[in-house]
Amino acid sequence: MHSSSRSSQSLAELRFTNRFSAQLPADPRNDNTRRQVYRACYSRVVPVTATEPELVACSREAAGLLDLSGEECTSGLFTRVFSGNELLPDMDTYAMCYGGHQFGNWAGQLGDGRVINLGEIINSRNEYWTLQLKGAGPTPYSRHADGLAVLRSSLREFLCSEAMFHLGIPTTRALSLILTGDTVERDMFYDGHPQEEPGAIVCRLSPSFIRFGNFELFTARGETGVLKQLADFTIRTHFPYLNGSKPEVYSLWFDEVCRLTAELMVHWLRVGFVHGVMNTDNMSILGLTIDYGPYGWLEDYDPTWTPNTTDARGRRYCYGRQPIIAHWNLAQLANALYPLVGKPEPFEQSLQNYNLYFEQSWQDMITGKLGLKAFDPAHDRLLVEDLLHLLAEVETDMTLFFRQLAYVPSAPEKQADERSAPLQIAFYHPDHLNSAYHKKLSDWLLRYCNRVRRDGLSDQERKKRMDAVNPLYVFRNYLAQLAIDQATGGEYTLVNELLEVLRSPYTEQPGKERFAEKRPEWARHRPGCSMLSCSS
Ligand code: AMP
Ligand code: MG
Repeated sequence: MHSSSRSSQSLAELRFTNRFSAQLPADPRNDNTRRQVYRACYSRVVPVTATEPELVACSREAAGLLDLSGEECTSGLFTRVFSGNELLPDMDTYAMCYGGHQFGNWAGQLGDGRVINLGEIINSRNEYWTLQLKGAGPTPYSRHADGLAVLRSSLREFLCSEAMFHLGIPTTRALSLILTGDTVERDMFYDGHPQEEPGAIVCRLSPSFIRFGNFELFTARGETGVLKQLADFTIRTHFPYLNGSKPEVYSLWFDEVCRLTAELMVHWLRVGFVHGVMNTDNMSILGLTIDYGPYGWLEDYDPTWTPNTTDARGRRYCYGRQPIIAHWNLAQLANALYPLVGKPEPFEQSLQNYNLYFEQSWQDMITGKLGLKAFDPAHDRLLVEDLLHLLAEVETDMTLFFRQLAYVPSAPEKQADERSAPLQIAFYHPDHLNSAYHKKLSDWLLRYCNRVRRDGLSDQERKKRMDAVNPLYVFRNYLAQLAIDQATGGEYTLVNELLEVLRSPYTEQPGKERFAEKRPEWARHRPGCSMLSCSS
């Protein structure tokens, strides 16, 4: 009783600033009918009422961003507020208007079809966070869909957002996962077999949810005035460190977005993350990972792998193409910002810079993964290229390979067997490896060890460096599915255990070995583990 009254006070004490809705043009209509919305950045709309909201999990680190303790997240008020059943007095709720290119084609207006923003707060560290509910009911942007979300996709978004944060990867955050008590109909594989599934809502947090698509829509419609308002807002609010008179500041800003996006791509490659739907409406202007849908984690290293069944044929969004697709998406953003600058050269320059930012960042990243001090182009380019071929040649678990590489002894007197022994657990079929492969692996390991010795680091120091960038625990696709199966049965221990384990992805956790294992055979072709649809 005592703690719940204290918690309600803290939630009620949130200081709302609501800069987006206060400073940008609103849709004058406030009816919630699906429609095209012109000359506005957002439409005001309120969440629907959830029948019987129930908290499944809450991230204490995300709660800390709102100055809430983990304990405060268990109050009845918390569940009411983050299921959309109770609005706090200073909340200003709205859905954003944006467009986007989907799978390479202009799709026109999309917008927050199932996201309702609750407003922006400032915390005790003077950080601004926008809060939004995903799955809280329809908006003017819902098109033909229902504005709702189901447990499986919400659980995946909730855990993966927090896992990415703890991996040190720029991302939107997830505060809570709440069941609504209502069911939602979904045809998971678009094969004419719809089923009732439990409905859920995730509360997401981010400094901003503005996407490339927000800018694209205004330019596509010739609404240059609103485009300029949104661009000026974005720069003064989220890039205050950029100075320059106009129009140069727009070019500087675009260059900065190119840099942030390049860095994000390198992070994804480092940990084996595949977003799955890199449409321009899913690209954050801050270079954050946003919109966790049919994403997946590489198990065996296969650059052509995509988790998204909709993308299975074209593989547009497969692991290895992500950097190129990001570049394509940035080119769409450049087209959208062009009216603010009036000449193409600065954009062309920045799109070239993207390649440099990416290359530099990628070299630093792969150097770190191998435990080397610095990239030596003369030797390391080929060393890395040969390794990536080797990894793709037989089914090799990417996460375990790099983690285990840190155990390979570098001393020259070691035998080939001693060098390759630590890597055996990374192979999906260690018994099927032929002698030609063994020879290639041994040769590579010998070159690697020679290279490592040139740096003069002790094996212990090398392992320490490698362990800081090669995670042991990633949110493996089958682990997500196990947690979903359990939660669907009303049991939330695995969700919460995963949340806990994924808080320290680089640190070995005794007793948690099973979360670091490679994909079991049963999960190889199971829907949800190896194949995901956009139905969510
Ligand atoms: P996505 O590519 O999954 O991020 O979604 C593309 C667009 O579809 C966005 O504008 C979403 O808001 C919208 N959308 C996806 N699912 C739903 C849904 N169940 N109800 C309404 N809109 C949705
Ligand atoms: Mg989206």
